[in-house]
Amino acid sequence: MMKAVRNYGIEDVRVEDIPKPIPKQGEALIRILYSGICCADLHIYKKGMFITYTPETMGHEFVGEIADPNGGSLTVGQLVVGDPRVPCLKCSACRTQGYQRCESLGFIGEVSQGCFTQYIAMPWEKLIPINRPEKLSHGALVEPLAVALHICVEAHVGKNDHVVVLGCGPIGLLTVAVAKQVFQAKTVTAVDIVDSRLQRAAQAGADFQLKDISQSSLSEFDIAVEAAGIGVTFQAGLDHLRPGGTLAMVGIFENPVSIQPNALIGKELRIIGCNTYTREDLQQAAEIIGKGTLSLDFVISRIISLDEAPEAFKALAGDHKNDLKILLQAH
Ligand SMILES: [Zn+2]
Ligand SMILES: [Zn+2]
Repeated sequence: MMKAVRNYGIEDVRVEDIPKPIPKQGEALIRILYSGICCADLHIYKKGMFITYTPETMGHEFVGEIADPNGGSLTVGQLVVGDPRVPCLKCSACRTQGYQRCESLGFIGEVSQGCFTQYIAMPWEKLIPINRPEKLSHGALVEPLAVALHICVEAHVGKNDHVVVLGCGPIGLLTVAVAKQVFQAKTVTAVDIVDSRLQRAAQAGADFQLKDISQSSLSEFDIAVEAAGIGVTFQAGLDHLRPGGTLAMVGIFENPVSIQPNALIGKELRIIGCNTYTREDLQQAAEIIGKGTLSLDFVISRIISLDEAPEAFKALAGDHKNDLKILLQAH
């Protein structure tokens, strides 16, 4: 048996013992080391989004080591991350454009056993080997880092660009770091109403940290990233872009919002949706973290045991936003 953090419905997360998985043909068994609580897990917790049944072991961000290759090419002890996506493999996107656009894209932790536990069985082809980073826990950040890389690739962030990131949760902060440190944007402005998040944005490499975008000395941005999933930041993105600028949307909206869209027409803006990543983004994120070239401590607020996960969900869903990425240590 092994410990697992399971979702039983809205605001009902329990730690239970479940049977250790037995890998099927074509799957390896992975001993999970660290996993990360994602915004998507919070949407499940708060609103019951994405899931079709309960109970299920939650979680899709992890780093672990091969416990049983089960005939595959990876060796026991090899550090790996997994592509947690479960695409339908039938829709037009799955056939031609990439799983990130799959119309019924699912994730482990939603449609099958997730990683907030001690072992997981996954198909060989979903596993990506990663070099041991100095801080092993950073391996659990490969998946969200891939999301940030995908945003910057899709938005074509370049060296002359002034970028504004609206909302400094984990994805917003990782986007600040990638835009500035990997894509070398000219300036990156971070906007959030929480002081501690703005301090973290400075550590991530933001040139400017603001509580309100209208205080910016830059009147026009080339690229805005909406990473909050609320109407005010959606509107702020439209209103503060230069003509022909790009609004990249990545925050999931829990509720419908009302906006004034005329700036979109008047300035011929481009709006792009960013959903997860490509396999190449995931691969690049694994390389960056394996090399340890990007400092990432700013995104982790604490590392706790699986037993403490229900309390962590309560804290993350609550009003005071000083927690950021919480990692679960499985062993
Ligand atoms: Zn995630
Ligand atoms: Zn599909």
